[in-house]
Amino acid sequence: MKLFNNKYMELAIAEAEQCLEAEVPVGCVIVSNAGEVLAVAGNSMISTCDPTAHAEILAIRAACSAAGNYRLDGCSIFITLEPCAMCMEAIKLARIENVYFGAYSFKDSASWSPNIIGGFYEKECGEILDRFFQSKRKSVIIKS
Ligand SMILES: [Zn+2]
Repeated sequence: MKLFNNKYMELAIAEAEQCLEAEVPVGCVIVSNAGEVLAVAGNSMISTCDPTAHAEILAIRAACSAAGNYRLDGCSIFITLEPCAMCMEAIKLARIENVYFGAYSFKDSASWSPNIIGGFYEKECGEILDRFFQSKRKSVIIKS
């Protein structure tokens, strides 16, 4: 586990202050294992009309683009606020190794629950995935 470094959290705080007027002020910084800052982002939900434009999501996208990889193995993320469930899943999907945050979130951001109904065209939808993974397996067999 990489040691916490104040300068990255201070950078996240400065980013949060940048969006203080227009957004819920949250700042985020993603740092490589070598200590290189890959991305800095602040919340942009209101200004972009995008409910997923949390600082972490924007920073993950920018860091992946900078790294040229959809995974951020060995990276650390510094956030001014405890990540919500969506961002925590994105952090896991990106394989970010260390999560450091400032303030604890006491608000349940997932208090809104939509109706969830699955199984529509289940067979057709599943077959698309089956075809994809079968072709992947064939290419692995051919290559080896
Ligand atoms: Zn979030």
